[in-house]
Amino acid sequence: MKPLIKDILALPAASQEVVVRGWVRTKRELKNFTFVEVHDGSALTGIQCTFEHTLPELSTGASVEIQGKLVPSPAAEQAVELAAQSLRIIGKADPASYPLQKKRHSFEFLREIAHLRARTATLGAVARVRSRLAFAVHEFFHQQGFQYIQTPIITTSDAEGAGALFQVTTLDLEALARSARAPDYQEDFFGKKSFLTVSGQLEAETYATALTRVYTFGPTFRAEKSNTTRHLAEFWMIEPELAFANLHDNMCLAENFLKFLLSTALCDCEADLRFFDAHIEKGLLDSLKSVLDSRFTHLSYTDAINELEKASPESFTCKPVWGCDLQSEHERFLTEKVVRGPIILTDYPKEIKAFYMKLNADGETVRAMDVLVPRLGEIIGGSQREDNLRTLESRMQELGINPQAYNWYLDLRRYGSVPHAGFGLGFERLVQYVTGMTNIRDVIPYPRAVGQAEF
Ligand code: ATP
Ligand code: MN
Repeated sequence: MKPLIKDILALPAASQEVVVRGWVRTKRELKNFTFVEVHDGSALTGIQCTFEHTLPELSTGASVEIQGKLVPSPAAEQAVELAAQSLRIIGKADPASYPLQKKRHSFEFLREIAHLRARTATLGAVARVRSRLAFAVHEFFHQQGFQYIQTPIITTSDAEGAGALFQVTTLDLEALARSARAPDYQEDFFGKKSFLTVSGQLEAETYATALTRVYTFGPTFRAEKSNTTRHLAEFWMIEPELAFANLHDNMCLAENFLKFLLSTALCDCEADLRFFDAHIEKGLLDSLKSVLDSRFTHLSYTDAINELEKASPESFTCKPVWGCDLQSEHERFLTEKVVRGPIILTDYPKEIKAFYMKLNADGETVRAMDVLVPRLGEIIGGSQREDNLRTLESRMQELGINPQAYNWYLDLRRYGSVPHAGFGLGFERLVQYVTGMTNIRDVIPYPRAVGQAEF
């Protein structure tokens, strides 16, 4: 394989002959010299290539192969640069139409040209951090004895309650509409109604009760109509599930996992994170480092409501009351103003959580946990699962869920039931948190959100 620019930049500048390949980010002409910055995405920085003549035919965006000698650079930000000897333009980019010109573009504009935006400094850095974090997820679980499992993307269970579902069908809807017939899902591909999954948890539980420690890492779909900076319709979720574990074990795992991911990013993505700190979110590095040194605060939902009630009523547009789901404004108030650091909120009212969460002795609250972080709010949601067959069945009854449809899931409580727990970490929320990017649509290559599925 041909060397990457990041490897070339690390070479000693002892007049080595090298060939650089990449795309032109900028070109400056000064008297008879031309300074060309070439990037290949392997690092935040590109390599400066200096020609002793003008290059009228070369423009921003073109792909090039430049041969020359590495020499010490007079510029402060780089050790070496290329004294260029020859240039081959591999692919031109017409300056009259190439959309990525030197000026700063808005992220909204870049979303319209998502097929080219990875060539910008910011989106390139996001892609590298995202890739490193994905690998770190596997590293962490591998080190901790977890098995990576793949759960189905198409599902026929519709009552999990995590969010609105996308239906999957091969029925001819237009023909049905013309004939004014109601769809018969027995004639559909799977013989019943089917959907894109909102979570791999239930299937992960079945493997956790065989392999003890498992995790999933895959795409998840929610028809979230809410047009926020933290919600996508298609996102990636990491869901560890562990047997012989209670909520406390789950909280420890979540804290260790997040800290491992942050320290990996701080260590291996240092240049990219310094860039985000300078250009996207001031103080980002300090805030990430402070999380590493902190202990996550544990707070019950009930105590959290008490804290929120102490705040002046003008702090919120929606008044916090016991029994209501916390809004993002409440979550951020708790983590940014009350605790000033990550919080794990636990023991939510059963009415606002899913049927499978373990019921507490009070009969009112469940062993749920949400991890909240400053600047973002919820990053992780999880729980200890109900492992008692009778309790689980009666919870399902209360919620009008047909136990027949979940027979396989109930079997886990019939045969060799154990206390077990797990959580879901939204991968894009993590990337958002680590990079400081404001909008979740800018931390996934091709965002799918309400009204948006281009490319
Ligand atoms: P929120 O209240 O923020 O909408 P949720 O309570 O619906 O989240 P869970 O069902 O607990 O979320 O999902 C687990 C995790 O998946 C969340 O903590 C979050 O990190 C992530 N997540 C949930 N919904 C989305 C979404 N629409 N886009 C991106 N990530 C999401
Ligand atoms: Mn949601």
